[in-house]
Amino acid sequence: MNSTALFKRLGLSSHPRFVARPGKGAAGVQVVHSPIDGSVLGGVRLDDAKKYEAAIRSAQEAFEKWRLVPAPVRGQIVRELGDAIRAHKADLGMLVSLEVGKITSEGQGEIQEIVDIADFAVGLSRQLPGQVFPSERAHHRIVEQWLPLGLVGVISAFNFPAAVWAWNACLAAVCGDVTIWKPSLLAPLTALACNSIAEKVAAKHGHPGIFQLIIGSDEQIGKPLVADKRVALISATGSTRMGRAVGQVVAQRLGRTLLELGGNNAVIVTEEADLKLAIPAIVFGAVGTAGQRCTTTRRLIVHEKLADRVCKKLVAAFEQVMSRIGDPTAPGTLVGPLINEQAVKNYEHAVLAAKAEGGRVLIGGQRVKKASLKSQNGGSGLYVQPTIVRAPASNKLPIAQEETFAPILYVFTFKTLSQAIAIQNSVDAGLSSAIFTERFREVEAFLHPGGTGSDCGIANINCGTSGAEIGGAFGGEKDTGGGRESGSDSWKAYMRRQTSAINFSGTLALAQGIKFE
Ligand code: NAD
Repeated sequence: MNSTALFKRLGLSSHPRFVARPGKGAAGVQVVHSPIDGSVLGGVRLDDAKKYEAAIRSAQEAFEKWRLVPAPVRGQIVRELGDAIRAHKADLGMLVSLEVGKITSEGQGEIQEIVDIADFAVGLSRQLPGQVFPSERAHHRIVEQWLPLGLVGVISAFNFPAAVWAWNACLAAVCGDVTIWKPSLLAPLTALACNSIAEKVAAKHGHPGIFQLIIGSDEQIGKPLVADKRVALISATGSTRMGRAVGQVVAQRLGRTLLELGGNNAVIVTEEADLKLAIPAIVFGAVGTAGQRCTTTRRLIVHEKLADRVCKKLVAAFEQVMSRIGDPTAPGTLVGPLINEQAVKNYEHAVLAAKAEGGRVLIGGQRVKKASLKSQNGGSGLYVQPTIVRAPASNKLPIAQEETFAPILYVFTFKTLSQAIAIQNSVDAGLSSAIFTERFREVEAFLHPGGTGSDCGIANINCGTSGAEIGGAFGGEKDTGGGRESGSDSWKAYMRRQTSAINFSGTLALAQGIKFE
């Protein structure tokens, strides 16, 4: 892949923050390596405290103008943003693949999510509906309206280097807010390219500064952003460890958070499941994005009578995947690299721990040792085999309680559906879940209106745990943080609510019949 031509088309080469040939250890520059082969893609100039302050000031200034633009007009600017991203979809998708190692179709899919959420936000810009309530006082009305919130800090994880920003930025923009994006230092180039496109569109319409980008370390940039009282909402996507730290700091200053944190997602396969649906859904869920999605299927909970048959089918499917591990930009590849050496170490640690705990590795468990996948900088390459580990007869496998960001699927068995649901709900995270069954009562038990079924924010029937559409609210419970992003009424997080009692009676009446004469 000729990244020079790609960077030129995306305007990165001429961007003042981009460094084409960063020297080793250049001060104030983040060097970006591709996980595909370790090659240097380029560098990005990091922000310091002065630049941070300038970004906040510029955001405040932009907000004062932007909040007064009618929401449907704001929507038209977001529509243009979506169009501009659409025009660059192939190139941006390729940049995602180069920077974080997603296979081509997943890189493209990530950019498609920006287009989709922009479309959604445009429609929303003509709604943002308030409510009217009947007043107990004669000739009064109670109304509720939604107002812009202010500055929205967006902290994104490496594994969705573009879509997560757009979920926040497009909704925030139609709500009248200004976004300050702090991307992961593992994926700053995608951020630079996407944000430049958005800023160009905004500036063309006389609103420069509504999409701010700040790039830097957690110490220099991330933590000051989180602690900054001028930033009304911190929307943070990443590990539960990060969310716990961020949540505490923002709560201390009584700010708002929207937390989208780790997952440990399970699929339940009952005796009544249609395996033609279940097997491919589990394989995609476990192996897609090399297991580096928050919604990756990490646990399979299968009825004991089906367990051997399902494991056999899964092993056969994983075997086919093994020959398609490699360069994610090459046609036919299904599994790309992990993001960095630490991620490979975490994978190896989890496999070792699973074995020590009595788990049986049915397939995989190794780093891929192929000369063609070696790293340019002398490393062994970041490719690992998708892995299935069967829990011992005791069904106890403590390592499966943790989210290891790699393609490892742990298999548990159950006798009754309530046992299966208990196993599913036994982890700290509560993001995504799924059940495969053709039986109505099992579906209803899983979705029970009393909340006794799945305890996750996402509970799918006959489709897997990953690959959410933007129309519904996305997010999870417990250690996943409780935030909701994207569709449904998630926009409310980006606005403040105001309730007004309106008196058109000509006399003053107090509520609750109080007399004060
Ligand atoms: P991470 O927690 O290491 O980093 C995420 C972001 O938080 C980065 O931008 C990082 O710089 C920043 N950060 C970390 N500590 C911070 C602090 N104290 N103050 C301010 N910023 C801080 O996560 P990662 O490795 O990039 O991503 C993988 C994790 O993200 C997984 O746990 C995955 O499940 C989760 N994730 C969740 C969702 C979701 O929607 N629920 C989506 C994608 C990823």
